[in-house]
Formats: sequence, structure tokens, C-alpha cells
Amino acid sequence: MPDTAAGTRPDKHEILASVFGFSAFRRGQEDIVDRLTAGGKLLAVMPTGAGKSLCYQLAGMLRGGITIVVSPLIALMNDQVAALTANGVAAEAIHSGRDWQTNADAWRRIAGGHSGFLYLSPERLTTDRMLSALAKLPVRLIVIDEAHCVSQWGHDFRPEYLTLGTLRETFPQAAIGAFTATADTVTQGDIGDKLFGGDGETFTFGFDRPNIHLDVREKAGGPAQLVKLVGELAAGGAQGIVYCLSRKGVEETAERLNAAGIKAIPYHAGMDAHTRHIHQNRFLSEPDLVMTATIAFGMGIDKPDVRFVVHADLPANMEAYYQEIGRAGRDGNPARAVMLYGLGDIGRRRAMIDSGNAGDERKRVEWQRLNVLLGYAEAVTCRRQMILSYFGEASEPCGNCDVCDSPPSVFDGTQEAEIVAEMLIATDERYGQAHLLDILMGAATAKIKSAGHHELPAFGAGRPRDRHQWQSYLRQMLAAGYLSLDLEGYGALKLTKRGRAILAGGVEVSLKDSLPRRATPKMKSTA
Ligand code: ADP
Ligand code: ZN
Repeated sequence: MPDTAAGTRPDKHEILASVFGFSAFRRGQEDIVDRLTAGGKLLAVMPTGAGKSLCYQLAGMLRGGITIVVSPLIALMNDQVAALTANGVAAEAIHSGRDWQTNADAWRRIAGGHSGFLYLSPERLTTDRMLSALAKLPVRLIVIDEAHCVSQWGHDFRPEYLTLGTLRETFPQAAIGAFTATADTVTQGDIGDKLFGGDGETFTFGFDRPNIHLDVREKAGGPAQLVKLVGELAAGGAQGIVYCLSRKGVEETAERLNAAGIKAIPYHAGMDAHTRHIHQNRFLSEPDLVMTATIAFGMGIDKPDVRFVVHADLPANMEAYYQEIGRAGRDGNPARAVMLYGLGDIGRRRAMIDSGNAGDERKRVEWQRLNVLLGYAEAVTCRRQMILSYFGEASEPCGNCDVCDSPPSVFDGTQEAEIVAEMLIATDERYGQAHLLDILMGAATAKIKSAGHHELPAFGAGRPRDRHQWQSYLRQMLAAGYLSLDLEGYGALKLTKRGRAILAGGVEVSLKDSLPRRATPKMKSTA
């Protein structure tokens, strides 16, 4: 596609209608198109189906010249080339799935200015030969699809994506758009660093699933609690998934549900492939069926009328959680997500991270992610707002979560927060939760004594309440942004700017008791 002279360039709404046949942009699309058309560098995080390809295809047409689209998936490249061609837009793909002649013809059309879209795998693009050939052509837009592959914190790191970080120097005049459906804020930051040297914008749109009611409950009363809960959710024949951490948990839960008259079948990777297949098909085709499963179940299951997802155990992190509950209510009708959460889960999840063979840095990131989820579990503000902000999307209180339904009874925890803030300052913000809790509980451990922390005013100041309660306060303060977890400092808790303001006075900190109090607090006398 040769350059269109400025002034005669068609308008974005015109192209939207004439090429794509749509009358309006979806939320977020227009901003992304505008920024890219203006030559910007951006990361767009939008769930599958939100309309990412339209953003860069339209921007590519508006920018003129050549648009390079980097994608790791041959099938996806072929689909997009076919779709563009069907819309009357010339597009090419060069990849190992095509013979030499087909690839050579495609290149000739690109080099001759007859075609403006070139789809390439990262390996193909970053060969010296390809880069120097492309450097002679008017490359105006570079699109990096599945951009989470560039980050080790994403779920699908591909080393060949790292070399894409040099593109901004090879093609300084090109706009760069990175697109992905999955990246939490940690991953987003990493992608921005790797691809843009930190010099890019991030757009996050479309994560909200407003029809899913969110609910977190503390584990209490053993297996009977779960059976009762699922019984309520499944009443009237509603179908759902109950996620358990272990295979044993999956089997036992299915048995208990059946014993209680709730039709349930298990699914986990320890079952033979044939049985798994049968159970999956039963879940898809039979009414009135509850699937108890490990996370092995759900990938690629597109059943629109799943009415509930229960987490019988704490999920791994917020991203996993949101993906798992996202299997409910795809039809847009009301659906429910209930997570059960107990202290034992926290220990188990931590042990899973610690015993894994990931490097220290990765473990620290996983710890941080787990802590975000714990903060979510103890939220005193709208749960959906928390989730969406985790993915980088701003929103209002949702009116469709347990916290919005009945806000927890919070108390003025300013004094507790002051104790924590003073303790952090006095210990140079160098200690992790366990040591800080020892101080609050007045546990004269060897580490405490050698650091002289038994002489701090905070030593034993938390005693009127128990250790788990303080642990919850620390997590709540973390969740509310008063504290941060130092990833470089082995999980040390630090005060944020907001946290420092507690010491300056004038800040009111709300806390909630997530566990029954074992003693009446008498903070005034100990503070
Ligand atoms: P993604 O790449 O984000 O998974 P796609 O680009 O494949 O999503 O788009 C998903 C579907 O939404 C496609 O069928 C596409 O044609 C449609 N779509 C995209 N943008 C719009 C729009 N502005 N109006 C209506 N439909 C749209
Ligand atoms: Zn809410």
C-alpha cells in the first residue's frame, strides 16, 4: 500500500465502516488507534475477543507504509491475513509453514509497495537479513502480538521475544503497539521496560465481567460448609465448577456432594484420559451436574451457562483466580463466584512457592502476587474494583460483590496502623512479616534480641490481639496501599508515601477484624 498523501488520508470512522463494517468503536479501541496513528509506543491489555486486531489494523492503514505484525502463532497469522484480504486489504505472512516460493512472492509484494501488512514470527523478523531488508522500507507501525511472551513474569515467556526490544532502535520512526490478553501490573511494567525502555503508555480495557457476583468467605465448619454452599448454589439445577487444590480434595468433594444428593463428578490430571474425556463431555451435555476439579479443568472449555465457580481452596494468584471465575456466566446472565479462604491455605500456597525450583527473584514476585490475592480476600472495599485495578483498569464500586452488598464492619484502626508505621521506621523497613509479628507479639526470639528490638515501644504492643489478627491487619494495610512489599529486600514490608502520612497524623485507617477477636483490644494503654 503506497503512502497516501496527507489530507487525502481517509478518516478512521470511514475505514471502520467501509473496511470493517462497524458503526462504532468499542471501549478503548479509538484511543489506541489514535495513539498509534500519532506514532506512539503503547501496550494494550485487552481480553480475548475485545477487538485488539482491529486496533492495529486500522492504525496501520491510517499510518500508511508498512505495518509489521509479530506473532508466535502461524495459524493466527494465516487467519488474520485471510480476514484482511477478505476485507479488501492486501496482507502477507512469511513463515516456516509456507514454501519458499510463496514466501518470496509475499516479500516481493511488500517490497514493491503493493501490500502494507506483513505478518512474521519473531525468529524470522529478527534475522539480520530480514532486519536490513526491512530497514530500507517505510515501516511505520510495528505490532507485537502476544506481548506477554516478552516477560518472564508472564505465563508464556519466549526467549526469542527478548530480541524484539531492539526494534525501537532499528525503526525509530515506527509506532509500536504491543498487545496481550493477559498481563497483571507486574508483567505490564516488565513488557514496557523490555520493549520501550520504560518509555511507553499502557492501556487496559474490557476486563470487567459485571454479571459475575464476587464473594469471599472464611473457611469455617470443615467440609460441611462447602457442601452446604454448593447445595445452595446448585439449587434449581444450576451447573458449576468447584475448584480444589489437590486431587484428593477433588475426589472427596465429589463424594461428599453426591452423598448429600448433589450430582457431582471429579476431574483432575491423575485420572486416565478416557475418564477425563467422558467427565468433560458429561459436564458439557448433562444438566444438573457439578464438576469438582483441579485447575487441570477449564482450559478451552466454552460452556456459556456455567452458573457458579467455587474455590474450595485459595487459588494461586489473582490472574489465575480471575481466569478461573471467568468460566462462569459467559452468556452474560447472573453468575456467582465464591472463594473459601482459610489460614491453612496461605501456608500451603507459600510452601508451594518456596519449594518450587524457580529462582529467588521469581519466588519474590510469586509471593507478592499471593499477597495481593490475600489482600483481596480481606478487602474492605469493593472486590471488583480491586481486581480491575490489579490489571490496571479503573472502575467504580460495583454493587455486585459481597463487600458492596454488606460492607464489613470496620473499626478505626488508626492506632494500630500507627503502631505498625512506627515499628517499621524504628526497624529501618528492613524486616519481613514474621519478624514484625514477633515484635508486635513480644516474642523475645534470638533475632529480636540481637537486633535490640525487644526494647522498641512496639515490642508486645499488639498483644491484646492475636498474631493472626495482626497478620490480617498487615495484609489489609498492604492491600490498601499503606505498605508495600520490597521485592528486592526479600519481602521486607515498607511504608509507602501514603503509609508515612499515618505518622504525620490526619489519616484515618479503617481495618476490619477478619477473625473473631480472642481478646478485647486495649490499644490505648499500650500505644
Ligand atoms: P482479540 O484479538 O482482542 O481477541 P478480535 O480482534 O479477534 O479480538 O475481535 C473479536 C471480534 O470482535 C471480531 O469478530 C471482531 O470483528 C469484532 N469487533 C472488533 N471491533 C469491533 C467493533 N468496534 N464493533 C463490532 N465488532 C467488533
Ligand atoms: Zn463491589
